[in-house]
Amino acid sequence: MDRHTIWHPCTQMKDVEDHPLINVQSAQGIYLFDPEGNSYIDAVSSWWVNLFGHCNPRLMAALKRQADTLDHVIFAGTTHSPAEELAERLMALTPPELTRVFFADNGSAAVEAAMKMSYGYWHNTGRLEKTKFIALDSGYHGETLGALSLCGEELYTNLYGPIMPQNIRVQGPDCYRCPYGEHRESCDAPCFEHMERAVAENADSLSAVVAEPLVQFAGGFKMYPPVYLKKLRACTEAHNAHLILDEIATGFGRTGTMFAAEQANVCADFVCLSKGITSGTLPLSVVLTNDNIYEAYYADYTELKAFMHSHSYTGNPLACAVACEVMDIFRDEDVINVNRPKHEHLRACVEDRFHGHANVGEIRSTGFICAVELVADPATRDPFDWKQRTGFRIYREAVKRGALLRNLGDILYFLPPYVITETEIETLVDIARESVRAVLD
Ligand code: PMP
Repeated sequence: MDRHTIWHPCTQMKDVEDHPLINVQSAQGIYLFDPEGNSYIDAVSSWWVNLFGHCNPRLMAALKRQADTLDHVIFAGTTHSPAEELAERLMALTPPELTRVFFADNGSAAVEAAMKMSYGYWHNTGRLEKTKFIALDSGYHGETLGALSLCGEELYTNLYGPIMPQNIRVQGPDCYRCPYGEHRESCDAPCFEHMERAVAENADSLSAVVAEPLVQFAGGFKMYPPVYLKKLRACTEAHNAHLILDEIATGFGRTGTMFAAEQANVCADFVCLSKGITSGTLPLSVVLTNDNIYEAYYADYTELKAFMHSHSYTGNPLACAVACEVMDIFRDEDVINVNRPKHEHLRACVEDRFHGHANVGEIRSTGFICAVELVADPATRDPFDWKQRTGFRIYREAVKRGALLRNLGDILYFLPPYVITETEIETLVDIARESVRAVLD
């Protein structure tokens, strides 16, 4: 049925002929189950959304409670307590400057809203020429055209150049192949010179700089030090441009702190959140911003300064109720601290099984993310020929062995739900090692 009707995301559908889709009939905790009774560890938290396991009892109970009360309502001209409570919780978790919450329903939509809010701020305050956005080379911010115009990965953008807004891409940090010969643990981010120059040169027309803090996920799990973010905040302030931090993937504990920006002690003008906000139960996103931005829109109706942006499912009460429960779990279960030994164990297991392998270029980790970059030759850091699809073949081997370890090119990454146990971590990393052996050794 699927093959005849459904077009899957980010998938060459012809591949499905040789590699049938996994029919996921149910899921529980870190496991997905097919109708034949096979189980698969969800090693990538279902596209980085799931924090507390599938069908988490607390989240499902919160959803059921809310489903008996209020399903959905237009969010213009109404309000409801799940949204109010969630806004309050988010304010309590983020720096005091962030005082306003705008709801949307997926990550790309949050990025689009932040871009529009930033440009609208300059427009409403008389700086009509500030129309440009700067983003980093390996950044990824979603696939709608505005968000896509900030993506640095040609795989996603190449085809759409002629129909995208034209924004500015800047060479960003690349710590594995650092052109300065530095190390991410000790450097002072000399690579920031590219951003410094781009911001200075474009300051008059610049609306905002957009970045994923500390980890560029889809761009290859590139990890960079907090000092780069500190410089970015100082530089955008000095040149009167906004900073939009996309914490859609990094947020809610993934990098070891509740939000990645905490590690650099910076506060952006806009923060985009999604993914883990509902622990993968329902789609939801928010943009957090400050009073200065909000006030640029606050005027008599006839001044036509309102932020004219809406999505049908804005502030969906079911999603908000689940998100409130997610925040409760963080509080009640001391998740950030409880996670720490687990991600250290993950890192240690990956080091133990992969260090020294003839095709392991780099093992890197930040919080509960551990990535292994496979290369043709670690001495030169030359990648494999992409047409060999090395990572994809390893992914297929891992599926056979019971793990959904979806590759990103030739990067294998472990990004499991936080509820994974130490023993399950070992099983997962062993499956990965055997899968690499099957393809490369
Ligand atoms: N920003 C980042 C950093 C992301 O990782 C993603 C999703 N992978 C998005 C934005 C887009 O989110 P969505 O897929 O919900 O539109």
